[in-house]
Amino acid sequence: MSGTTFDLVILGGGSGGYAAALRGAQLGLSVALIEKDKLGGTCLHWGCIPTKALLHAAEVADSAKESEAYGIRATFDGVDLPGVYKYRDGVVGRLYKGLQGLVKSRDITLVEGTGRLTSPTTVQVGDTTYTAAKAVVLATGSYSRTLPGLEIGGRVISSYEALSLDYVPSSAIVLGGGVIGVEFASVWRSFGADVTIVEALPRLVPNEEESISKALDRAFRKRGIKAKTGVRFQGVTQDADGVTVTLEGGETLRADVLLVAVGRGPSTANCGYEEVGVAMDRGFVLADERLRTNVPGVYAVGDIVPGLQLAHRGFQQGIFVAEEIAGLAPRVIEESSIPRVTYCEPEIASVGLTEAQAAEKYGEGNVETYEYNLGGNGKSQILSTAGFVKLVREKDGPVVGVHMIGARVGELVGEGQLVVAWEAWPEDVAALIHAHPTQNEAFGEAFLALAGKPLHSHA
Ligand SMILES: Cc1cc2nc3c(=O)[nH]c(=O)nc-3n(C[C@H](O)[C@H](O)[C@H](O)COP(=O)(O)OP(=O)(O)OC[C@H]3O[C@@H](n4cnc5c(N)ncnc54)[C@H](O)[C@@H]3O)c2cc1C
Repeated sequence: MSGTTFDLVILGGGSGGYAAALRGAQLGLSVALIEKDKLGGTCLHWGCIPTKALLHAAEVADSAKESEAYGIRATFDGVDLPGVYKYRDGVVGRLYKGLQGLVKSRDITLVEGTGRLTSPTTVQVGDTTYTAAKAVVLATGSYSRTLPGLEIGGRVISSYEALSLDYVPSSAIVLGGGVIGVEFASVWRSFGADVTIVEALPRLVPNEEESISKALDRAFRKRGIKAKTGVRFQGVTQDADGVTVTLEGGETLRADVLLVAVGRGPSTANCGYEEVGVAMDRGFVLADERLRTNVPGVYAVGDIVPGLQLAHRGFQQGIFVAEEIAGLAPRVIEESSIPRVTYCEPEIASVGLTEAQAAEKYGEGNVETYEYNLGGNGKSQILSTAGFVKLVREKDGPVVGVHMIGARVGELVGEGQLVVAWEAWPEDVAALIHAHPTQNEAFGEAFLALAGKPLHSHA
């Protein structure tokens, strides 16, 4: 290949783009990866990793506050925010360095600059045209959306600004009870803030199983996090001391900051996609199940493709596209078997169909569920966490959905995914032993119960 011609030209170096680059290079393709900001994208620098580091610091704060219940003498003296950021940035920095090393070691050409698609086979960066001999992969990611007329600025912030606030707010209003909203609410509460979540839909985490939303609402209230659901935001004003938020109906709320967490839009403006004829819908790039756009040789991965906006979906799609281009004909990714984790306290994890979705798919009478309460699980008792594991199965058929809430349940979703994606029957899994005492055992108990032979439950 000549200096600016590569098998793969990838626009965007976030989860989707860099995964395509790493896998493509592994398969012997020459790769140019174009990134205007930082390799690693949203997830590594402004998303998954920094927020989870904050959530862990929040857990440490909670442990200090609750230590007496365990007979340990410790005191919570407050939050040293520069110290929290130092810890968080250390985590991000080490991963960033590792990723840079990986990209370099696979001989991927990392191009620093803003790229623009100029034809089905070319991307322009400054004065240089990069030509794709095999394919172009669009992976420009997403940005924090806001509502019409609601501008980010000052004390009205998005998750991006929230990650670099130089103070812990003493009070916060969180607009949006989805994943990002409840995670920040959780962190700020643990750090001592008075938090109110405003969600227009009738429940928090509205994409999850209804019983999970109820359990989260209960747990949050117990922690002192207030949730106003089924109510719309009307407007906000700000002054030197704080924000005043008005809700539909006239109620007003006052706080130090307003976090706008109403979802993420696709970063596709000014990228040249429309001009080259790529089919789009409200800014998202339309791709088929093999991640092909309507323009031959142009693929799309990650948050710009409608569906779950999750880093591991981006990784998987990036790998898929690289393998597709290398001629390996990979298996189509089932969107429904992608695991979802919300890392607030308590955590939420799920994969597959909710009970309602399963009933719609298989018919009302053809679905069985079982809910195992973590109250009966030894390790959960040790951790003092409440919650449950709920399994949804097709009657006389496989498990099609797994839903969990409780401390640390995110770590259990791997087994849930294997079971759902492998279409395992409870009878198959019930024969497998789960170590005691682990939270994982709650799964085992639920499978045993659904297989008709409950051990530590009354089903
Ligand atoms: C606060 C927060 C928390 C999150 N937590 C989680 C989590 O815990 N787990 C999870 O799975 N997901 C989480 N996500 C979502 C996750 O970050 C995204 O799903 C993931 O980053 C999407 O990857 P991507 O490659 O599509 O886009 P991005 O990671 O956004 O990467 C796109 C890249 O393209 C670059 N780019 C854009 N336009 C151009 C251009 N014209 N030229 C050159 N480069 C360009 C950008 O600079 C960026 O680096 C979180 C997101 C946020 C905001």
